[in-house]
Amino acid sequence: MSVDWKSAQDFDRDHIWHPYTSMTRPTPVWAVESASGVRIRLADGRELIDGMASWWSVIHGYGHPDIRAAMHEQVDRMSHVMFGGLTHAPAVELAQRLVALTPEPLDKVFLCDSGSVSVEVALKMAIQYWQARGHPGKHRMLALRNGYHGDTFGAMAVCDPVTGMHHLFRDSLQPHLFAPAPECGFHDDWDAGDIEALAVLMEAHHRELAAIILEPIVQGAGGMRFYHPQYLREVRRLCDRYGLLLIADEIATGFGRSGRLFACEHAGVVPDILCLGKALTGGMLTLGATLTTSEVAHTISGGGAGCFMHGPTFMGNPLACRTAVASLDLLEAGDWQRRVSALEAGLRRGLAPAAALPGVADVRVLGAIGVVELDQPVDMEDIMPRFVEAGVWVRPFGRLVYVMPPYVMDPTDQAHLTGAMVDVLGAVLTRAQ
Ligand SMILES: *Cc1c(COP(=O)(O)O)cnc(C)c1O
Repeated sequence: MSVDWKSAQDFDRDHIWHPYTSMTRPTPVWAVESASGVRIRLADGRELIDGMASWWSVIHGYGHPDIRAAMHEQVDRMSHVMFGGLTHAPAVELAQRLVALTPEPLDKVFLCDSGSVSVEVALKMAIQYWQARGHPGKHRMLALRNGYHGDTFGAMAVCDPVTGMHHLFRDSLQPHLFAPAPECGFHDDWDAGDIEALAVLMEAHHRELAAIILEPIVQGAGGMRFYHPQYLREVRRLCDRYGLLLIADEIATGFGRSGRLFACEHAGVVPDILCLGKALTGGMLTLGATLTTSEVAHTISGGGAGCFMHGPTFMGNPLACRTAVASLDLLEAGDWQRRVSALEAGLRRGLAPAAALPGVADVRVLGAIGVVELDQPVDMEDIMPRFVEAGVWVRPFGRLVYVMPPYVMDPTDQAHLTGAMVDVLGAVLTRAQ
């Protein structure tokens, strides 16, 4: 494809929505020509070291040859076929792998289009489950403040009401219940008071609650906060006591990002329903999966509808499933644990100097996630060109300047990435004084 980038960018600005942007005052976008390994190549020839892994997903780097080969093979065989009444090796193999990788007794797999859809599926499973058990009144959800679960309506209704701007959609969103966000940090001493508000809510409302949905250990887009594993163990205990399903949204944390294959493992907790997405295909294509137990699946299937009421057009897309299997092959054959530990050490070392900058509230690292939290939101129009100029791709969000690099990033690139973050932050924060 040969493109006149000047006119392409003009067209882009005038006609194409980007995530969470204005059509009248769009923030700048950079044109990408290609990407490989941990580098994004811009149309103007500059190369950026990628700190974002395209929002948690590109864990093996861009264009890994093994995944590309699997995709080529699958495209030539069959890119897509409907999943109603038909099945195929990529879906079967992927489901086998997911059942084997995730803790027992999660053994039923629903393949869907994206993270948000996997959350929709999970919420519907919880509602159908309680209907089938003769408790149709248990249809509301409990969620955590600072949580993020996606942009579709069902998912949006369980996102943090403030950052998710519930007031804009008040009349269109299901009114769910929200517990305060966990305060006790991952590395802090456990404070039993941290779970009290949630326990009170569950006790008061369990008759109308189908499930609690949360991001285990790492609250992502809603604040990049790392909370205490004991909190999750207490949630599991309370769910069992009051009869709520536990939905773990591991769309961001799944596949090693937090230092464990799944973040629930930090607490030794098994959810009733597990949502996966993002890194599932190694960032090559969109795909989601919702896993549940035989108990939940059989109960739903014995209910009034006699089936689970969901089935998207591109369900179980063979190309996406084959891509996911290739990504899981790499993950399982590779030494992701050592790489994530090395990244954790590199991020901790590299970002530490940011803690001394004026206007920095906190610097924290867990697994291959590094966060610099500021006192004030960044000025995107000012800071983005500075990162690009420094040769890195970092895209802050509000007061959070964070990275979750591909696991394959070597120490030299790690040092360049964190060094550029500290330098750019130093320049903008010192000037703001
Ligand atoms: C990204 C994300 C989602 C939504 O996934 P999409 O693929 O963007 O729909 C849901 N939950 C969490 C925790 C996420 O990080």
